[in-house]
Amino acid sequence: MLVCTGYAAESPSAPLAPYSFTRRAPGQQDVEIEILYCGVCHSDLHFARNEWGFTAYPAVPGHEIVGRVKSVGAGVSKHKVGDLVGVGCMVDSCRTCPSCQEGLEQYCDGGLAGQTYGGVEKQTGEPSKGGYAERIVVDESFVLRIPENLNPAAAAPLLCAGITLYSPLRHWGAGPGRKVGIIGLGGLGHMGVKLARAMGAHTVVFTTSPGKVADARRLGADDVIISKDPEHMAQHAESFDLIIDTVSASHDLAPYFGTLKREATLVQVGAPDKPLPFNVFPLLMKRRNFAGSLIGGIKETQEMLDFCGQHNITADVEMIPIQAINEAYERMLKSDVKYRFCIDMASLKA
Ligand code: NAP
Ligand code: ZN
Ligand code: ZN
Repeated sequence: MLVCTGYAAESPSAPLAPYSFTRRAPGQQDVEIEILYCGVCHSDLHFARNEWGFTAYPAVPGHEIVGRVKSVGAGVSKHKVGDLVGVGCMVDSCRTCPSCQEGLEQYCDGGLAGQTYGGVEKQTGEPSKGGYAERIVVDESFVLRIPENLNPAAAAPLLCAGITLYSPLRHWGAGPGRKVGIIGLGGLGHMGVKLARAMGAHTVVFTTSPGKVADARRLGADDVIISKDPEHMAQHAESFDLIIDTVSASHDLAPYFGTLKREATLVQVGAPDKPLPFNVFPLLMKRRNFAGSLIGGIKETQEMLDFCGQHNITADVEMIPIQAINEAYERMLKSDVKYRFCIDMASLKA
């Protein structure tokens, strides 16, 4: 067993606080990683506060992990001591079901047992614990290579925010000649802008925050729509080939459906705890599609990281010490993050 310090929530209403626990000793196929940085995803907040109803306490969030390999098991061939590596939302899967065989581990028939946090560790039977910690032990098959040309702190959010947008942009064919909308300019949304633009799509941001318009353009948006302004929305009626919705709270989708072309698709990636209310008629009228998407598989995550290495894409991060995590959550709830908080794990020793 390895002793590990980190931060955890003890209950849905408790602030995150210092917490000491144990990790399994690295086995044959395991990689032990010293965590350097961990991005702060809105899912961490949903999870810490049990907003999705499956949190086991004490809860250690964090699934945008970047670190250096500290030790490897005897059977490890993909990574070596000193490598810069990443871990995202998954640390395992059943590996035998049709989805796993197709490299779509995020849709494993075994459910979400292999999640980095909120799952159950196969090797120990214990609830899995995430990256707000000094180290983590992960099977080598779920450890990603981080391109060395990227700033490691700014690369951390690629492990969740990056892949969550990359996968649907690829699946629904974002590229030249396609008008792609991104709803919500937060952690996921700002990665969506950078990625859709790099894929060659005409990229448009829908935001509720007029103060983010200049940033949206700086990040690569060709256009920005204030979604609360019906006239502005009407100017873009029936014009989008694809829209990805990253909003973390319940909101009405009908106005967005109206901006899709006939048979075009709105993909939901935001995961509000409350149901989304919407009028179905805009869907019926133009045979439009409403879909969902969950992160991406391990192979696709590596492909995304390599794509970001080639195009020099990382997140815009605001670095914080772990002691500031509760304040960061409050700011995230006010849509006041530009555009991803990232924890400098050296602060754990402070
Ligand atoms: P975030 O950084 O907090 O960004 C969310 C953005 O949504 C905000 O910046 C804001 O953008 C907009 N927004 C917030 N509240 C709103 C409201 N009431 N009405 C309209 N717009 C609102 O969060 P994130 O880390 O990007 O995560 C977003 C969601 O995706 C969370 O629910 C998270 O759990 C989920 N998620 C899903 C996956 C997946 O695999 N599907 C993966 C990761 C995260 P503007 O200020 O521009 O309006
Ligand atoms: Zn996430
Ligand atoms: Zn499976």
